[in-house]
Amino acid sequence: MSELLHSLRDIVGAAQVLTHDDPGADLAAWEQDWRKRSRGRALAVVRPGNTAEVAAVVKACVAAGAPIVPQGGNTGLVVGSVPDDSGTQVVLSLTRMNRVRAIDGANLTMTVDAGCVLQNLQDAAETAGFLFPLSLAAEGSCTIGGNLATNAGGTQVVRYGNARDLCLGLEVVTAQGEVWNGLSGLRKDNTGYDLRDLFVGSEGTLGIITAATMKLYPEPAARLTAWAAVPDLASAVTLLGLAHQHLGAGLTGFEVMGQFALSLVAKHFPQQRVPLWEHSPYCVLLENSDSESEAHAREQFERLLETAFEQDVVSDAVVAESLQQAHALWHIRESIPLAQAEEGLNIKHDVSIPVSRIPAFCEETDALLEREMPGVRLVNFGHLGDGNLHYNVQAPENGDPQAFLREQEARVNTLVFDAVARFEGSISAEHGIGSLKVDKLPHYKDPVALALMRSIKQALDPQNLLNPGRVLTR
Ligand code: FAD
Ligand code: ZN
Repeated sequence: MSELLHSLRDIVGAAQVLTHDDPGADLAAWEQDWRKRSRGRALAVVRPGNTAEVAAVVKACVAAGAPIVPQGGNTGLVVGSVPDDSGTQVVLSLTRMNRVRAIDGANLTMTVDAGCVLQNLQDAAETAGFLFPLSLAAEGSCTIGGNLATNAGGTQVVRYGNARDLCLGLEVVTAQGEVWNGLSGLRKDNTGYDLRDLFVGSEGTLGIITAATMKLYPEPAARLTAWAAVPDLASAVTLLGLAHQHLGAGLTGFEVMGQFALSLVAKHFPQQRVPLWEHSPYCVLLENSDSESEAHAREQFERLLETAFEQDVVSDAVVAESLQQAHALWHIRESIPLAQAEEGLNIKHDVSIPVSRIPAFCEETDALLEREMPGVRLVNFGHLGDGNLHYNVQAPENGDPQAFLREQEARVNTLVFDAVARFEGSISAEHGIGSLKVDKLPHYKDPVALALMRSIKQALDPQNLLNPGRVLTR
């Protein structure tokens, strides 16, 4: 392996190859996953500065038979971007590749290096007078390469789609160290299999994304945010239908938050004033972005809420009066995962169910978990507009969260995932499979789909060197 390290240093420069043998080495930032569930041990962390160096690194690793773990911002939630504990895997960090290569205003596209931090891309688009709509709570540190590799969703999917929908082209280094240049900004290209869509969502198991061409949008003239209390989940679903009718394409976000989830924000972040949560089982956060004017957006919201009150699907509501108030409302939503972490260890699920079936899914699964594990607390929130719930399970109050996780996690997962399957949903809506759910996938994925996935992996990475053990086991 010292020969491999020697080659890697030749390719990227000694300063960009980090190993445990370096004096004072601390590789925790690359070896520990974001949720601190797993700490691996890398043979080395390699930080190439351009696509040619990535290709050369891959070729060197292939020659040495060393597995490669691609890594962006390391904010993934399914233990997919950190090495295993064998000490043989090379972490290939893309974060030095952070250039915006080009912005084409007439084509409404920007072409960027994979290691660009998402927030920097939002800023670059804004500076050029455009909107880049991908938005998630990790945007200050996640990278566009990681967003594409996980097909990230976030809070604007109702209107703009997920990372896949925003991507027009990719540059990818293959498992053999070849460079595929697919960075066309074409919206139409029917010349055979769609390789772009194969790599998007492949979690680093099929190729290394080194650059991407992403869609830009005009900045909306106004964005308005409302917060509504609803009597139950069925009413939230009815409100979603009304919002589609009244706001049309302006409906940008539709988030639901359960009462217990909001109570945790009120408890752990008392400086945030959480509206309307005390008397309603669910609250909804809606965003309307309008191409005309703020007055028009407000008028649309007023008509929507009027209808919703008439039909008794909303019991109370506030519309943000300023951008600052709108940010404060979104901040409450984004604080739920942090408040939950403050409350203690918990079991997370990121599931999707057809929107129409979500109320029945929650009613049945809430009751099932409460029956099987008396006292469990359900932190239920998510992107209802996309049929995506973060259906999380917290240990009973005054219980020992660590013991709860140790003794109950497997059983809770089975109960929740079996319910998801009964309701024809997916066990991963946006976070991916990684290694956290790799043993679950065969139980819940269509067997023919799974066999096709294995054939694709075998064809593209026959040596199984790209992120082995993630998404698929052999
Ligand atoms: P990493 O964590 O570094 O990697 C993720 C996966 O992609 C790994 O399998 C890795 O091997 C692979 N990968 C990374 N870069 C490349 C590349 N260039 N080429 C090939 N493979 C690569 N996700 C959502 O979808 N919606 C949300 O709303 C959301 N909110 C989040 C909020 C918080 C606070 C956090 C911590 C995470 C959240 N996530 C969310 C998880 C989400 O998957 C990541 O934040 C993000 O998409 C991953 O980007 P990253 O650069 O950190 O990738
Ligand atoms: Zn989410």
